[in-house]
Amino acid sequence: MLLRSYEITRVLPCLADPEKIRVIAEVSGEIHEVFPYLNAILKGCIYNHPAMTLTIKKDQKLITLHAYHITLAKVEDEKEAEELLRWLKNLVNETYERRSEIEPDYSKGADLKALDLYKLLPGTNCKECGEPACLAFAVKLAGQEIEGLKCSPLFSDKYQEKRKVLFELLQATGYAVPNLSLDSGKKE
Ligand code: SF4
Repeated sequence: MLLRSYEITRVLPCLADPEKIRVIAEVSGEIHEVFPYLNAILKGCIYNHPAMTLTIKKDQKLITLHAYHITLAKVEDEKEAEELLRWLKNLVNETYERRSEIEPDYSKGADLKALDLYKLLPGTNCKECGEPACLAFAVKLAGQEIEGLKCSPLFSDKYQEKRKVLFELLQATGYAVPNLSLDSGKKE
């Protein structure tokens, strides 16, 4: 069994939907070995092999698997988080057990959607990035047409949580992100 147990360690407000929660669960041991097999059997995953992350979309939820933890976004409550984690545990273990029958898929999969990125930007349309609005910036970011995150308001304390999620999403999908301290927002 690859995923023996998990424990919910943080419950936060969901940034995309204030009515919902974002949950972080630590797992009992490394689980990344199963990621290319899950990527092969599930539709619409985003896989970043070098960063060892796999993002799964399930019923409007965004689930990102890391080597040692799992993040769940847009979750109704802790009861739903437990249900999702139980589902994930079975999926991970069953897929791992029959990995010899599955051709692993190391491809990146789906691209990021501009709208998903837009929800994680400040949304003030201040134009400091040189774009006429946040959505225009998000479109260019999704298309990898800009280098670095030239959105200075995003690095203020006010947007610390949005910044963390945005960075997680960008890293999970293999996009280049600047070397920053996610807690302080200051360059290291
Ligand atoms: S600098 Fe940031 S907040 Fe301002 S318009 Fe650009 S993306 Fe939006």
